[in-house]
Amino acid sequence: MTVNFADTQSLMDITARPEIVFVKGEGSWLEDHNGKRYLDVIQGWAVNCLGHNPPAIREALNRQSGLLINPSPAFYNQPSLELASRLTKASVFDRVFFANSGAEANEGAIKLARKWGQKKRNGAYKIITMNHAFHGRTLATMSASGKEGWDKKFPPQVDGFPKAELNDLDSVRALIDEQTVAIMLEPVQGEGGVIPATKEFMQGLQALCKEHNLLFIVDEVQTGYGRCGELFAYQHYGVTPDIMTLGKGIGGGVPLAALLSREEVSVFEYGDQGGTYNGNPLMTAVGVAVFDTLMADGFMDNVKARATQLSEGLLKLSAKYGMKGERGVGLLRALLLDGDYGNELVLAAREALPEGLLLNAPRPNLLRFMPALNITSEEIELMLTRLDDLIAKVRP
Ligand SMILES: *Cc1c(COP(=O)(O)O)cnc(C)c1O
Repeated sequence: MTVNFADTQSLMDITARPEIVFVKGEGSWLEDHNGKRYLDVIQGWAVNCLGHNPPAIREALNRQSGLLINPSPAFYNQPSLELASRLTKASVFDRVFFANSGAEANEGAIKLARKWGQKKRNGAYKIITMNHAFHGRTLATMSASGKEGWDKKFPPQVDGFPKAELNDLDSVRALIDEQTVAIMLEPVQGEGGVIPATKEFMQGLQALCKEHNLLFIVDEVQTGYGRCGELFAYQHYGVTPDIMTLGKGIGGGVPLAALLSREEVSVFEYGDQGGTYNGNPLMTAVGVAVFDTLMADGFMDNVKARATQLSEGLLKLSAKYGMKGERGVGLLRALLLDGDYGNELVLAAREALPEGLLLNAPRPNLLRFMPALNITSEEIELMLTRLDDLIAKVRP
């Protein structure tokens, strides 16, 4: 395929992109405009939980587009009802609001918590979030995020997001005051470098929330939908959050996200929340197909088996090269390098011939792995072998 790269000048220049145009995908593989193939363990940043172009999603899009694409959010549609009831049955939540992106779902969670604060807590509005957290790119979710430098990017910030340290309960306790309405965190910090919350910390947060009448909000945009080996990561911790957000995997590659809450917390009144595309049947039909695929017999067993395989393989590499180990939960894992050469590895892997490998380094000293949940054991082995060769070449 011929690509006119001059056309790239018509796009806003928001990130450095390589001169590659991906034209085809299947499972764990992508193909670019030159016909070169790449083994992909990024999958759109943990989005394509069933890999590229899975038959279940293609079939759902075809079927639903032949029936109804957009009746308007002011009317019920069948796929959104089916997906909402699946999600509430599979979780501790009673109500769902569909959104189009993780940031929008989190924005909804923040609004819902503030609304609950107005109704039940004398106007309390502050939401304690974590340093190094990532919650999205709207103004409020950037303010809720704890990414270094983000507090200075688009001043003034949205007020009311004091920052605590992940896995340090005292740092959370010290921030609680009369105005605090909620605590919000990712069960595993993804963008922050794949840092899991400990069980002790999560249960401690739940106890703090009970003691001070606060809402417990989990951002499962990255950790949810089987990524961490359970349908939702909070299920690893023996906790019962009040609000959860989903994104990424819920749509398997199409724009779909969700805000879920327990009945007592579902306090929006008419006019408080909405959106043109929210819950549209084309996307929620995909959501139903993705959900049913995850729930099928044996699917989650494969996720757990591949997670163990990946973890053991990364540990072996770490031992071979004297690195700092690996960490993560399920198929969200990181290899801790022994130096700041993550970006060099990413580049060399992409440029490798005859086939490339797509890796991600959220920090220069670690690689993050978020493959398709249905990746095969052969593909994991292949990835580990190629990574081994690359490390041997690139490591200083
Ligand atoms: C990706 C991500 C978001 C933002 O989702 P978008 O769909 O990009 O808006 C929010 N929270 C977490 C934990 C994420 O990983």
